[in-house]
Amino acid sequence: MNAPSPTDTHKVTIVPEAEIAALMTPEDAFGAVEATFAAMATGAAYNFPVIREDIGHAEALYGFKSGFDRESLAMGLKSGGYWPGNEARGLTNHQSTVILFDADTGRVTALVGGNLLTALRTAAASAVSIKHLARPDAKVLGMVGAGHQSAFQMRAACAQRDFEKVVGWNYHPEMLTRLEDTARDLGLPFEAVSLEELGAQSDVIITITSSHQAQLMSDWVKPGTHIACMGTDTKGKQEVDAQLLARAAVFTDEVAQSVSIGEAQHAIAQGLIAESDIAQIGAVINGAHPGRSSAEEITLFDGTGVGLQDLAVAAKVVDLAVARGVATQVAF
Ligand code: NAD
Repeated sequence: MNAPSPTDTHKVTIVPEAEIAALMTPEDAFGAVEATFAAMATGAAYNFPVIREDIGHAEALYGFKSGFDRESLAMGLKSGGYWPGNEARGLTNHQSTVILFDADTGRVTALVGGNLLTALRTAAASAVSIKHLARPDAKVLGMVGAGHQSAFQMRAACAQRDFEKVVGWNYHPEMLTRLEDTARDLGLPFEAVSLEELGAQSDVIITITSSHQAQLMSDWVKPGTHIACMGTDTKGKQEVDAQLLARAAVFTDEVAQSVSIGEAQHAIAQGLIAESDIAQIGAVINGAHPGRSSAEEITLFDGTGVGLQDLAVAAKVVDLAVARGVATQVAF
């Protein structure tokens, strides 16, 4: 028997929310998410079923996203959810924390703030899809949505193509200033347009809203466009016309989530596409799937958000904190 001694020096690394911004860059998030999607496509990494509960308290939705990556040995979960009353208390409505474990022993290794990481890993996911699926000559970026995530999305997208202009639409027009300000920071002109006009102008479209019905119609999207649908992460949400998925080559982070809680849930339910029509973005990254087949093809990425993304960026932050000597470690 080798029972742990009372002087066992196992340490847990703590990276508080307030320290993440100084440690993690969009580039680091991009690299972590791209590698994770690739590992998911080979089967080396897999996500466990998502738990998301309406807990009947504070109108909150609470749950867990979790998984294991046999390549990087990232193992753990993101615990979090949505508390609509938080804003009135000066807090962010979405709250999350990542907990990492040692894959060899099961012991907890890290506790990491998950709010900024969620925005960075979600923006990295659509940016990965743009890198691998958008036409290289894409010039106009269309943004549908102007909430918290939208600025992160725009910045990450603009690192992937030489966009010359951003056009935007939002259900609440008063929020469009966020898109305008972000585009200005990036040195790009911004134009607020109708959704029809957005479809007519855009080479790449990102949808990042909490809509529960299709906003962007298939007929408005021109051939050759790449669309990253990032807002639909729950049953019942919808951002684009289900017909658009029938017209497009459809890719996703994880097929099981895409057909159940992602944008594809509606096209699947209506029988417009089959599960077998949806490819994993990781297969394109690995070279197992050719990706875009022509300049005219419409490609659509259904970014549902997987736990492994959270684990990958949290593990990266822990590495950075330790390497820079700023990690807080406590015996546990
Ligand atoms: P937010 O609350 O800051 O912004 C909400 C956005 O949705 C705004 O643009 C708002 O105008 C729009 N909206 C609200 N009601 C609408 C309606 N009825 N019709 C159309 N648009 C409407 O939220 P956020 O943090 O920017 O997140 C946006 C969405 O992205 C949410 O649905 C969130 O759950 C989702 N999300 C997905 C992932 C993922 O990995 N896929 C990760 C984080 C967030």
